Amino acid sequence: MKAEILCVGTELLLGDTVNTNAAYIARGLARAGVAVYHQSVVGDNPRRLREELERALKGSDLVITTGGLGPTYDDLTKETVAELFGKKLVLNEECLQKIRSFFERIGREMTKNNEKQAMMPEGAIVLDNPNGTAPGLIVEGKGKAVILLPGPPREMAAMFESRVMPYLSNQSDKTLVSRNIHVFGMGESKVESILREKMEKAENPTIAPYAKDGEMLLRVTASAKSAEEARALTQPVVKELCEILGDAVYGVDVADLQHALVEELLKKGRKVATAESCTGGLVGKRITEVAGASGVFDCGVCSYANAIKEKLLGVRHETLEQFGAVSPQTAAEMAKGVRRISGADIGVSTTGIAGPQGGTPEKPVGLVYIGIDSDVMTTVVETRLSRGYPEEREMIRYLASSRALHLALQAARMF
Ligand code: ATP
Ligand code: MG
Repeated sequence: MKAEILCVGTELLLGDTVNTNAAYIARGLARAGVAVYHQSVVGDNPRRLREELERALKGSDLVITTGGLGPTYDDLTKETVAELFGKKLVLNEECLQKIRSFFERIGREMTKNNEKQAMMPEGAIVLDNPNGTAPGLIVEGKGKAVILLPGPPREMAAMFESRVMPYLSNQSDKTLVSRNIHVFGMGESKVESILREKMEKAENPTIAPYAKDGEMLLRVTASAKSAEEARALTQPVVKELCEILGDAVYGVDVADLQHALVEELLKKGRKVATAESCTGGLVGKRITEVAGASGVFDCGVCSYANAIKEKLLGVRHETLEQFGAVSPQTAAEMAKGVRRISGADIGVSTTGIAGPQGGTPEKPVGLVYIGIDSDVMTTVVETRLSRGYPEEREMIRYLASSRALHLALQAARMF
């Protein structure tokens, strides 16, 4: 099946809103094994919308649109699709009821134009919108289909997962299952050089590498009649890749480093605490992004100033004088200090130079020390995170936080 994504909204054309919907849907379609050959954006203009839809339907079996489903006069996607398929709009009582109860729930008065959202092309499949008022819909005809989704990303994503993915899997007798192997601390080119031949030869499952923010993801995707069968096909390949890559793999089918860390700590019944200088709380922020983090994280100290490193964390004055704030000695004492004051099982620290100013030949921008203090592993790792770009402060801070999370995860695994 060939699909096209068509996003509707003048704000997208003007660049006021970034078209995240297209990226989201494209990833979803890739997961579903649907080929996307074209994406486009059109403003809130019925004539141009019609032209774009006609063009898209000529080349593709399926067109997925987002936006223009709202209650206002410029929301015209549904009307345009109905016209194109030669279908009348009729009032859908069930939709109307749902919209009414949505307004009751949020305690607002429903205005007349909201009724427009309950008008559906004859025979359309209606997609509930638990996060908003505009239902989505699927219109089929002439061997083609158009799926209309709302513009707000949160509403679109929920509908896409709960209704569009199952619809797509019903269209084909094959199911795809993807497994994600998360790799940290081994660059993309290294991974490729190790696995190149395997990746090229792999057919079912396929193996595809993705690099992102200092990490690597290997996606193993199998196609079969059932999900169980597809999953079984991925199993030996995932196992083999994990064996080849060894310690560099920090998780399979985990969301990210912070989720892997929190899960591991919960499993082991252990706690972590952070003492952060150059990352300014980013490690703590990422840990607390994970629901359930309160079970493993009591405290993070953002000790930017030396005085705080001394007073709060108990870093010795002589250490700071003799070796400086950016030093393995300071990192070690910070990790130890935060573990002492919090009572956590693992103390993690970061201290470094995020730049762009402040580097010296001995201690250049990008030099970051990461400390771990625990009963099972106590270490300080020196990392050099600069790539020499002028605007890399955020990247250095992010990579340092990733490294810290990864080291904490290694420590947690040793319990
Ligand atoms: P509404 O009921 O809010 O009018 P709608 O289906 O008509 O919903 P739009 O009016 O097009 O959708 O967009 C609603 C919101 O969603 C806007 O804030 C818009 O910026 C955002 N949005 C729309 N399309 C996209 C997109 N492709 N990517 C990211 N955000 C989008
Ligand atoms: Mg709108």
